[in-house]
Amino acid sequence: MSVPAFIHLPHPNLIADDVRAAAIADPVFGRVFTDHMVSIRYTEGQGWHDAQVMPRGPLSLDPATAVLHYAQEIFEGLKAYRLDDGSMALFRVEANAARFNASARRMAMAELPEDLFIAAVKEAVAADAHWFPPVDGGALYLRPFMFASEVFLGVKPAAEYQFLVITSPVGNYFKSGAPAISLWVSEDYTRAAPGGTGAAKCGGNYASSLVAQREAIANGHDQVVFLDAAEHRWIEELGGMNMFFVFDDGSIVTPPLTGTILPGITRDTIITLARDAGLTVREEPYAIDQWQADAESGKLTESFACGTAAVVTPVGKVTRGESSFTIGAGGPGQVTTKLKDKLVDIQRGRAADPHGWVTRL
Ligand SMILES: *Cc1c(COP(=O)(O)O)cnc(C)c1O
Repeated sequence: MSVPAFIHLPHPNLIADDVRAAAIADPVFGRVFTDHMVSIRYTEGQGWHDAQVMPRGPLSLDPATAVLHYAQEIFEGLKAYRLDDGSMALFRVEANAARFNASARRMAMAELPEDLFIAAVKEAVAADAHWFPPVDGGALYLRPFMFASEVFLGVKPAAEYQFLVITSPVGNYFKSGAPAISLWVSEDYTRAAPGGTGAAKCGGNYASSLVAQREAIANGHDQVVFLDAAEHRWIEELGGMNMFFVFDDGSIVTPPLTGTILPGITRDTIITLARDAGLTVREEPYAIDQWQADAESGKLTESFACGTAAVVTPVGKVTRGESSFTIGAGGPGQVTTKLKDKLVDIQRGRAADPHGWVTRL
């Protein structure tokens, strides 16, 4: 399939320099957006067409647009980083392009050629590079997504899709700046079941997780931990981050990719970096009872969550029903900090990139 060229539409009213400067001085995650967006359309029989870089603005949708009824929607999340030499770079964008298509297949949606996904992301960064926020840990967060745009109420995979990339300048994800987060184990809700959509990055997974996340917040915690649907015993992941467990012998455990958790690119990166550092990483199920017992005995020394938005975030405290337990000293542990620093150093171009993860722009 040939890749369409991007048309650049004129922008009649760019946001003024002083308004932009104020907006990116201390951006709250996901609240600030840039001037442009990228859009590509798909029509069955015709393929991908109308690739455009255009002014960011509202979409006009017919009320019978399929996504509004049957939720055929997928997304990705990645960041453009500023390197110490002032240039910009993407991190493992090829992995995002591949995962996007894995999600598309699961949701019976059209696949987007990976080179077109990557070209669209690069167009988005090029259009709004001057929106890069001048803050510690700052980045341009890119949100490629695709939805069923066909106007039809029949239940079937849509014949038309719109793919978009929007850009949001971001600082640190957890604005409290807390050294470690606290987790609430959901006893009532599960996120995904075998054969379901847990491994696809689709909006529907988030829709079903929000009630549990709200419960976590209402109980004074930062994030919810989901257990497996079948036995309510095995730790799966948070609403939007994967989990890692560090033991006193220096080994690390993370839940395996069995189809019910999202295959995080940060997760894969951490596994690789840990093995590069000579640590033993086991991808194996880890039970909630064992987590508590190991934390209490001291066998487990650290736990952390990871994902693109929040990078690597230490877990300080966990609550299950009436009982709570503390991880290590309740703050960031040594292994967590070492892995996070290594990851950030590669992302910012300060450390060698032996795996070819960084794409300079
Ligand atoms: C996106 C996501 C992650 C993290 O994936 P990264 O590629 O590391 O950003 C983890 N869990 C869920 C449910 C997600 O949607």
